[in-house]
Amino acid sequence: MPEEKIYDCIIIGAGPGGLQAAIYLGRYNRDVILLDRGGGRTRHARHIENFLTQKAISGKEIIEIGIEQAKNFNVKIENATVTKVLKNEFFEVYAGEKKYLSKFVIVSSGVYDNLPDIENLHKFLGISLFTCIDCDGYKTTNKKLIIIGNSLKTVHLAFAMKEMFTKDITLVLYMDKVPDEYKEELREENIPLIIGRPVRIIGDEKMDALELKDGQRIECEVVMSHFGYKLNDAFLSKLDLKRDNNGFKFIVAHNYESSLSGLYIVGPLNQGNDQVVIAAGEGAVAAIDIKKRLLNP
Ligand SMILES: Cc1cc2nc3c(=O)[nH]c(=O)nc-3n(C[C@H](O)[C@H](O)[C@H](O)COP(=O)(O)OP(=O)(O)OC[C@H]3O[C@@H](n4cnc5c(N)ncnc54)[C@H](O)[C@@H]3O)c2cc1C
Repeated sequence: MPEEKIYDCIIIGAGPGGLQAAIYLGRYNRDVILLDRGGGRTRHARHIENFLTQKAISGKEIIEIGIEQAKNFNVKIENATVTKVLKNEFFEVYAGEKKYLSKFVIVSSGVYDNLPDIENLHKFLGISLFTCIDCDGYKTTNKKLIIIGNSLKTVHLAFAMKEMFTKDITLVLYMDKVPDEYKEELREENIPLIIGRPVRIIGDEKMDALELKDGQRIECEVVMSHFGYKLNDAFLSKLDLKRDNNGFKFIVAHNYESSLSGLYIVGPLNQGNDQVVIAAGEGAVAAIDIKKRLLNP
């Protein structure tokens, strides 16, 4: 049965972006509902060390505390998977059998990593297998590192990692052809290049080696996986929102409003960086903007 209640704002996704927006709008005593399907990327981050005032905190803790905080300010939180968003007189947000109406929407549904099919990968994910230089590059400092990836951007990542974190790098690429100039530069930088396909991480408590399909084992303490990510955006497909030149990330204005008036997009779905503190900051900016527009329709 459709709900005819009209919320001031519907927030999609309880990551740092959505929760920060929820806390602000809740503290303005606005009528807000946050819809979240559970799981989420921040929960994979086991030791976040770059968030102000937190020497180390897990992503799970950030989310659980954030949900408590938002509830304390009367934000309604429902477990629901959003399947479609439309805009008519109001925004219509569909989840299962339900339809929710609102004046504004904040999309903060995040992204999901393209992870290669490697045995034991999830056992080490976030501990000694990382996906993001800004998040976890530091944790590879002076360690024996293997970087795996499938594009020439991974070669640039290897140079950056060597400059900042560790000299002991092996690069494993899932590519048939690597241009000679890249091979030459890797030789100059003393970074061995292997063209191959990892199949298994070997190690109990700690990582010992990466095994390739041809049986080769490369010793390592840490792995950086570099295969990009996809957006959790299927439910926006009816809205024809503007994206960047690659047709990938959503274009937003300084207030994080998308090309559709009233619909805001925060976190790594837009062209900004993929960090907890940034998603949270963007959520706050969007919420403050929505507060002003609710006061002056
Ligand atoms: C292993 C790992 C380590 C990381 N370490 C750090 C770090 O040290 N420091 C740092 O700043 N950042 C780190 N990050 C990045 C950080 O997690 C992201 O910046 C953050 O996830 C962005 O937050 P978000 O609000 O966009 O979304 P997310 O945390 O991705 O949350 C999105 C939420 O939306 C929900 N959702 C998605 N689709 C739907 C739908 N259709 N309907 C309803 N709900 C939906 C998801 O279930 C999820 O709960 C790390 C990420 C990973 C994977």
